[in-house]
Amino acid sequence: MKKHNFSAGPCILPPNVLQEAADAVRELDNSGLSLIEISHRSKPFVAVMDEARALVKELLNVPEGYEVLFLQGGASLGFLTAAYNFHKQGETAAYVNTGTWSKKAIKEAKLLGDVDVIASSESSNFDHIPSFGAINHPSLHITTNNTIFGTQFKSMPSLGEGQVLMADMSSDIFSQELNIADFDLIYAGAQKNMGPAGTVMYIVKTESLGKTGRAIPSYLDLAVHIDKDSMFNTPPVFAVYTSMLTLRWLKNLGGVAEIQKHNEAKAKLMYSEIDRNPLFEGFAQAESRSNMNATFKLSNDELAAKFDEMWNAAGINGLKGHRSIGGYRASMYNALPLESVQVLVDVMKEFERTHG
Ligand SMILES: *Cc1c(COP(=O)(O)O)cnc(C)c1O
Repeated sequence: MKKHNFSAGPCILPPNVLQEAADAVRELDNSGLSLIEISHRSKPFVAVMDEARALVKELLNVPEGYEVLFLQGGASLGFLTAAYNFHKQGETAAYVNTGTWSKKAIKEAKLLGDVDVIASSESSNFDHIPSFGAINHPSLHITTNNTIFGTQFKSMPSLGEGQVLMADMSSDIFSQELNIADFDLIYAGAQKNMGPAGTVMYIVKTESLGKTGRAIPSYLDLAVHIDKDSMFNTPPVFAVYTSMLTLRWLKNLGGVAEIQKHNEAKAKLMYSEIDRNPLFEGFAQAESRSNMNATFKLSNDELAAKFDEMWNAAGINGLKGHRSIGGYRASMYNALPLESVQVLVDVMKEFERTHG
C-alpha cells in the first residue's frame, strides 16, 4: 500500500510522474532506447531540457531578461555559486539567518568576502522570520522557506535600484505565486518540491551577472551555463526529465495559483489541529508558519512511543522532526494530497481520545 509520505526531502512525487519516469528509464517515447543511455545532445533530450526550462518560465511567469538553468551540485553548491556570481569583490553582502540552510549559505559566502548578518532568529532556535529594515549593502540573500524549523517568509523584501536579491527557494519553489522581477537569483534543489535529487534549478536575471569583478570557475559561472543552454557539461538527465514531468503535472492541474490554494488548505487543516488539540504544541511562531513544513511537538514527551506507533500504523511516513529541533514535522509539498493531511489529523484526534 502506498504510504502517506510526509518526508521533508527527498519528497513525495505525483504517482503518474513516478510511472512515466520509470517507463522512460526503460524506453523513451518508443525510441528503442532508455532515457539514461542516450546522448544529452540528441534531439529527444534537448527537447526535454527545452521543455523543462520553458515550463519553469510559464508556471512562474518569468519575465523577459531571465534565464532558467538545471545544474548539478544541489542547493549546497548553489550557496557558493550565488556568492561567486553576485558577491561584489571588496564589498559586504547582507544575509538573513533563518536556520541551518541560511547558516550554510553564509559560511560559503564568507569564503569570498565580508558578510553582514542583518537579521537572525538564532537566539530563539529559529522559530520565526526576523524583521529587518532598509538594506544598505549591494546584495541580500534570504532562505524563503526554512525546511527544518518550519518558517516561511510571508512577504519578500524589496530592494533599491541596482541592489541584488538572492533567494534559496529549495523547499517552497512552485508552491505559491511569486513576483520573479523582485529577484536577481532564485535557486532550488529539485528534491523538495520538483523532482528527484540530482539537479538544482536556477532562475537568473542576466543583466545582473558579470558585475562582481572576480574570476569565476567555469562550472560556477552562471553566464557560462546560460551561454550553453544548460548543457555546458552532461546534465543530470534523469533528474531533469523527472522534474519536467512534475512541472507538466503542475501545469495540467492549473498551475501555481491553483496549487497554492491546495497548499493553503492543507496548512490550514494541519495547523488548526495542532492549535486545537491539547496534546500538541506548534514550534514556529504563528505569523511565520510555513505552508510546506509544519513543525510541532507533544505536550508530554513521554507519550512519544504511543503516538509514533499510531501514525506508523496509519501508513504515515517521514513525520519525525529534524534532530536539531526534535518533535515532528509534517512536510506538505505540492504532491501531497489533502487526504494524507486528513489521515494525520484523524490520528491526532484519535490519539487525544485515547491518551488525552
Ligand atoms: C534541502 C535544502 C538545501 C540543501 O539542498 P541540497 O540539494 O541537498 O544541497 C538547501 N536549502 C534548503 C532551504 C533546503 O531545504
